[in-house]
Amino acid sequence: MNHGIDLAGKVALVTGSSRGIGAGIVRALADRGARCVVNYVDDPDGRNRAEAQSVASGLKDAVVLQCDVGDAAQVAAMMDQIRQRLGGLDILVNNAGILRDRTLKKITAQDWDDVLRINLSGVFNCIRSALPLVRPGGRIVNIASVSAFLGGFGQANYAAAKAGVVALTKVTARELAKQGVTVNAVAPGVIDTDMTRVLPPEALKRLLDQIPLARFGTIDEVVHVVAFLCSPACGYVTGQVIHVNGGLFMP
Ligand code: NAP
Repeated sequence: MNHGIDLAGKVALVTGSSRGIGAGIVRALADRGARCVVNYVDDPDGRNRAEAQSVASGLKDAVVLQCDVGDAAQVAAMMDQIRQRLGGLDILVNNAGILRDRTLKKITAQDWDDVLRINLSGVFNCIRSALPLVRPGGRIVNIASVSAFLGGFGQANYAAAKAGVVALTKVTARELAKQGVTVNAVAPGVIDTDMTRVLPPEALKRLLDQIPLARFGTIDEVVHVVAFLCSPACGYVTGQVIHVNGGLFMP
């Protein structure tokens, strides 16, 4: 079922698509006809690989690729695989991300580096390595966060990385416009996934009290917006940030 969006013949890569929002996005793009690459990062007990394979098993002709997006050499190798096996790329969704919340008093250099490496350098690595593969009319969607705009408490690393993603989105949109490639960001608010389930209940309650729609968002509510930005109909939207946050932040 394509929900009015036809992605037949398109090749799509969604980073961090073994679970959460990324898994939702890759399923939606495949549902609309795209041939998809499901990406995960290796862990010692092989759980991430199993989750990625399980996501891919429900999709037609999906390819599963291991890659730590924070490692430029691994990203180059993943793009090479995509070029060899799928011939090019039409849709890149930079979704992979981690959270390491700590106040400035407690944050370590490692917490800072890990989050910047995956959440910001990961997006840069993927965009830079994908450039030779992305075909005219391509779509890049970067997953940012409301934290980039609100400066979430205890999120110095995360908010700075996501603000960097917003800036990188605008630069990339300008530089790729000549090829007819659009580049946008989606900034979710609080979405019910593994990432937010680890937040302390009192922090979640404080956030909930500030959301005009008085609830957290669902994965599907982010997925629909990403799918729209990836659609052929969305050719005149570029360099934008689309907020999906129940009113938590209004620009
Ligand atoms: P999640 O459930 O924790 O999933 C994160 C995904 O990123 C997993 O598939 C994970 O893969 C992948 N990942 C982590 N490190 C990676 C790396 N180095 N290389 C490749 N993949 C990696 O998180 P989520 O809530 O779905 O978040 C998805 C995106 O939305 C993130 O960018 C996040 O910052 C953003 N976001 C989320 C919320 C929210 O409320 N949930 C709000 C705003 C923005 P493995 O399973 O293989 O580890």
